[in-house]
Amino acid sequence: MVATQKISDVKGFPFPPGGVDLLIIQPSPFCNINCDYCYLPERTSQKRMSTSVLKQTIEKVFAAGLVGDKLSIVWHAGEPLALPISFYSEAFQAIASLPIAKEKITHSMQSNGMLLNDQWCSFIRANNIRLGLSIDGPSFIHDAHRKTRGGKGTHAQVMKGVEVLRRHQIEFHVIAVVTEQALNFPDEIFQFFLDHDICQVGFNIEELEGVNRTSTLMKGSVDQRIKDFFRRIFYLQKESEGTVRIREFDRAYQAIAQAKIDDEQLTFPPNDQVAPFAIISVAYDGSISTFSPELLGMKNSEYGDFCFGNVMTDDLSDVVSGRKFQHVLNDIQTGVWLCSDECEYFSFCGGGAPSNKYYENGSFATAETMFCRYTIKTPIDIVLDDLEQSLGINNSQLNHWN
Ligand code: SF4
Repeated sequence: MVATQKISDVKGFPFPPGGVDLLIIQPSPFCNINCDYCYLPERTSQKRMSTSVLKQTIEKVFAAGLVGDKLSIVWHAGEPLALPISFYSEAFQAIASLPIAKEKITHSMQSNGMLLNDQWCSFIRANNIRLGLSIDGPSFIHDAHRKTRGGKGTHAQVMKGVEVLRRHQIEFHVIAVVTEQALNFPDEIFQFFLDHDICQVGFNIEELEGVNRTSTLMKGSVDQRIKDFFRRIFYLQKESEGTVRIREFDRAYQAIAQAKIDDEQLTFPPNDQVAPFAIISVAYDGSISTFSPELLGMKNSEYGDFCFGNVMTDDLSDVVSGRKFQHVLNDIQTGVWLCSDECEYFSFCGGGAPSNKYYENGSFATAETMFCRYTIKTPIDIVLDDLEQSLGINNSQLNHWN
């Protein structure tokens, strides 16, 4: 084990109360397809993480004293299945050789599903890997944006992957990107997931992030259509009696249940993206980032990039004293304070996603974004309306007490 100072020993540092929640490892930035809304800048690069970088990553994260009972590793930020199975066999063996790590770690992968086959499924089952696939809905919606480098749609190939997963009885969840085109088809999208027994779906709106500098949702006229889309999806979810669970509404229920509103003493709701090291992201070359995972590997004029150190040369406690890290942390915390001052959803949200603030508003030290309007505020409004209706409360009754 490498000698290192624990982050919790660094004087005055606001280490995350719950420890590290997520370690995101980018085994390679490469992706085998070319979606038109992708935010990753290096997706044609075939560089990959070495075993020594992987081992140092795990050792440094544990040595920083931030890991609790469990650590979830997500292999992401490129297409993880584009690397051969042998890469992961070696990587998992390297992790297993570190006694401190092997009992606590679980693995997840977020994949485009194009390369799934029997061999991958056997490996996924044998290693208990939690799998997420990216499928935007039926082919006419999915294929409009999720394309090969030659411009062909990828839906048919992904659905072959789904068939193989079914044969091997492997459960998976799906992330679907909502573009302007998708807003016209909530029924068709929901029916697609129902028809294919896809029971857990998260909707990501098409974000302005990284190298994706435009979004079809940026037009002012789509505001009501996005809200209508989510309301319709909520209605369909209820009608299906929870056969398909939608992440955004599950999170809204959870945030409402956990919200603490105390006018005397402001409490900060948990938000992994604004707590340093609650999420740690490590790139193929050992670069360390934290806060929003989407900051990994991004270049910009203000900070240069969001790499705060390298696992081969730095401990996480070295990262904390770095000027760039302190600058970013300060700006993110200013943004959280702005949110707490301005936003009535703060007790549910805790200050949103720094990467969306940076890419939409040009600064971390800002509050509302398109991302939070549609993926935090809108689902909370929908769920609160529904709860009020079920309890027989209407606005005129509430206004009576004002
Ligand atoms: S909903 Fe948006 S504006 Fe409100 S606290 Fe969250 S990020 Fe800030």
